[in-house]
Amino acid sequence: MKLISIVIPAYNEGKNIPLVYAAIEKIFKSLGNNYDFEIMFVNDGSRDNSFEEIKKLAEKDARVKYINFSRNFGKEIATTAGINNCAGDACIMIDADLQHPAELIPEFIKKWEAGADVVVGIRKESKSDSELKKIGSRLFYKTLNRIAEMEIVPNSTDFRLIDRKVIEEFKRFTERGRMTRALIDWLGFRRDFIYFDARERINGTASYNFWKLAKLALDSFVSLSLLPLRLAGYLGIFIMVISGIMGTYIMIGKYFLHDAHGIWHLASTFSDAENLAIFIVFLVGIILVSLGLMALYVANIHREVIERPIYVIKDKKI
Ligand code: UDP
Ligand code: MG
Repeated sequence: MKLISIVIPAYNEGKNIPLVYAAIEKIFKSLGNNYDFEIMFVNDGSRDNSFEEIKKLAEKDARVKYINFSRNFGKEIATTAGINNCAGDACIMIDADLQHPAELIPEFIKKWEAGADVVVGIRKESKSDSELKKIGSRLFYKTLNRIAEMEIVPNSTDFRLIDRKVIEEFKRFTERGRMTRALIDWLGFRRDFIYFDARERINGTASYNFWKLAKLALDSFVSLSLLPLRLAGYLGIFIMVISGIMGTYIMIGKYFLHDAHGIWHLASTFSDAENLAIFIVFLVGIILVSLGLMALYVANIHREVIERPIYVIKDKKI
């Protein structure tokens, strides 16, 4: 009998936890005796009764395991902890808020049995998303695919299954600022896809607001691509060439063709102070842009090299 681990990150999901448990238990009952399952809840520093609900389930059902973080570490890290500590032959990640349809679990398993090492849930665009979120997400994937080192399928979600082989490779990642699904994509392996409609959230509120999403997007650009870093260099070269041409133009017009007409006339109307101002503004621009980009990378390097633990566990049952 194969063991399937279901990893569920939970942040303030008290009302949803019994529901998602019931949904999964029902699914596996219908799968018969071929598969055993365990549910690995990761309580990500919830401020509500989520952990009590998880413990209640764990006492009733030995297949329910948990990890309780000491504080909120974010969904990406919570998912990571679940994957790192699960025991299954395959692991399926699913949101606690019932937005990922648990009924699709058998299809994930089918594709896995057919030979896929990673089965990715692709979310069809949902009507409840704001225009801003839709445009933002399209722009994000377009840009990321242009500049990242591997292909990322648009609207691919964390609702996915990964094989034990992939789990073992995944454990070797050490970065703190991470996007779990991008790391799984980076690993490669044989992939297959399942398309689904995301449901509305029933209980609680989505905790990914605009700023959290923007931060995640920026994080993934910096950790997945070096283009922004090189961009500072390109920009510097571009501005240097432009200002070089302008400087030459002004110099010739002003100092060699003293009372020039036509296009040279413009050059001679600039005063020395104005010339200087143009160049200084250019230089300040270059410096600021480069500095801002460097700062992003330095921050990233800093966060990685100090080697803090990725997460801190308060209690666990695994
Ligand atoms: N989540 C988490 N830690 C956080 C935020 C969210 O573990 O800091 C969990 C949350 O409980 C849910 C999943 O991540 O199971 C998705 O979160 P949410 O519904 O807020 O995001 P969205 O559906 O907008 O992607
Ligand atoms: Mg959600």
